Amino acid sequence: MKMSSFLFIAVPILLLLSCAKPTSESETKRWDSNQKTLSTLTAKYPNFRGALDIVQAEAAQQWEAALMVTEEEQKIAAMQTANTAAYPEFVRQLDGMENKLEALKSLCTKSTRNAVQTMDKESLRIARNNAQRTLSAMEYLLKNSTANTPVEATVLTNEASKKIKNANSNIQKVLKRISEKARAKKQQEKAKKDEQNAATKSKKPVKCSYCGVKNSPSASKCKGCGAPVK
Ligand SMILES: [Zn+2]
Repeated sequence: MKMSSFLFIAVPILLLLSCAKPTSESETKRWDSNQKTLSTLTAKYPNFRGALDIVQAEAAQQWEAALMVTEEEQKIAAMQTANTAAYPEFVRQLDGMENKLEALKSLCTKSTRNAVQTMDKESLRIARNNAQRTLSAMEYLLKNSTANTPVEATVLTNEASKKIKNANSNIQKVLKRISEKARAKKQQEKAKKDEQNAATKSKKPVKCSYCGVKNSPSASKCKGCGAPVK
């Protein structure tokens, strides 16, 4: 078995196993990482501090309560609940925002090199300009809009994610159209070449394998010896 296919099977299984059996250790690790994420995000997006503080305080309360539970299974379940509370949807989105913005930026850069035809260049330029406008608008929104509550934060992050996704798929669509056109053109050229090759081949005289006389390619019998021409 190839290493890549081994990993392809083994990694999901390991992930599944690690998800299926939470322990108080794994939940504590998750808690620490969630706390780190919350403080990183607060430093990166101080305008979201209000919403992040509420999430942190509510989750911390649940976490403290979970630690008081004596029965192990119940304790782990309570820890999981606290961890879920510490990483709600808007935190997840905010956490992934930088990657999404970077992906869109690199798509803009990539798309400057791909267009050949003038019409494609133009539609790509429009999609790219839209994407760049979206990028700066969303960067501005994320840095300057105040989210005092999780609800406000959810509205903001949803809007930003949606617009970034749209800009991304618009460029992808144009790029796809361009590459489909390029592929079609290549196929056309190949078909033309094949046709030309076939034409030259059919004009070539056919040498008789018995007497060596050259016959026209359309001949069925040799004009020299009368043998059938292959
Ligand atoms: Zn012949």
